[in-house]
Amino acid sequence: MTKKQFFTQTLLDWSETQDRPMPWKGEKNPYYIWLSEIILQQTRVEQGWSYYLKFKEKYPKVEDLANAPEDEVMKMWEGLGYYSRARNLHAAAKYIANDLDGIFPSTYEEILKLKGVGPYTAAAIGAFAFGLPTAVLDGNVFRVLSRIFGIETPIDTTNGKKEFQALADSLLYQKDSGKYNQAIMDFGAIQCLPKQPVCKNCPMSEKCTAFKTQKTEQLPIKSKRIQKRERYFYYLRLRFKNKNYILKRTGKDIWQNLYEFPLVETTQIVDYKSFLQNKDVLKILPERREWAYIGSSKTYKQTLTHQKISAVFMEIELSSPLINASNDILEVDEKELTKFAFPKIIDCYLKDKSLFLKLF
Ligand code: SF4
Repeated sequence: MTKKQFFTQTLLDWSETQDRPMPWKGEKNPYYIWLSEIILQQTRVEQGWSYYLKFKEKYPKVEDLANAPEDEVMKMWEGLGYYSRARNLHAAAKYIANDLDGIFPSTYEEILKLKGVGPYTAAAIGAFAFGLPTAVLDGNVFRVLSRIFGIETPIDTTNGKKEFQALADSLLYQKDSGKYNQAIMDFGAIQCLPKQPVCKNCPMSEKCTAFKTQKTEQLPIKSKRIQKRERYFYYLRLRFKNKNYILKRTGKDIWQNLYEFPLVETTQIVDYKSFLQNKDVLKILPERREWAYIGSSKTYKQTLTHQKISAVFMEIELSSPLINASNDILEVDEKELTKFAFPKIIDCYLKDKSLFLKLF
């Protein structure tokens, strides 16, 4: 038996001994499989679970999702992060419902044309829904293959991707590609973990190069580390009686189409006195005698793939309603705020605030 044959056979045998329940396991409806795969991009299974069930219940057919208002879909997605996934999901649902008569594409190339679907997701949907001979390749698979086969080519290079994809394709169990793909994903999530892989009782250990050469910690190899950009968001939490002022993020940036308080971004941390004299802040605020500074929140932090966000909320009481020259700011009742989809960092702040108000 070659090492490749050993790998595939051992993996399938191992999967028979595992019972990792997930609501989308065994699902054959391509629409539901697609939903689960989009949710699981950048999200842990435990977190994505309830969102999957919620979406399935609210939008049982692709047409239901296609016909939903965008704000509603964004609100449903709230808390999952990486909101471009929700926008792409919605756009692709419209495309399937309107251009494909509601019929989900069934070839790898056609699935790949859906917005927000990359090679990994197309391979997973193709294998799970249609039994296509497509092998998935994601972080889990890179790790498992690089360790077992001792591959030191960096996984974030074009050559590395090609080499790993060719190996993954050659290992695929063609008779049941769905079962094989699920097995390798589970193996990466349960056995061959990023930190502290469970090598002691691993059925692959006798043939695993990384285990035999004590290189599990070094593999897989990446050529570069992502430099994260630091950003400082100062939000103006303006209030007149029980009215709040929010607006939609429309620019080409993170959190597109989510709501937020009027924002002034700075290149570094600033204190509230200098912040309140900032010319961009003065453009938003009314005349000095018409507002009072109440205080600022603690700093909230959120890390994204390429950015680190720090946000502070400056709380300001107005003595009359805000006059909004550009008409992009909405006046919203305090109770109505929960109807809008906000980025996680604002959500955390609002939750802390409501807890504070309940306690005192
Ligand atoms: S022996 Fe360790 S490193 Fe090798 S496949 Fe098993 S868990 Fe992963």
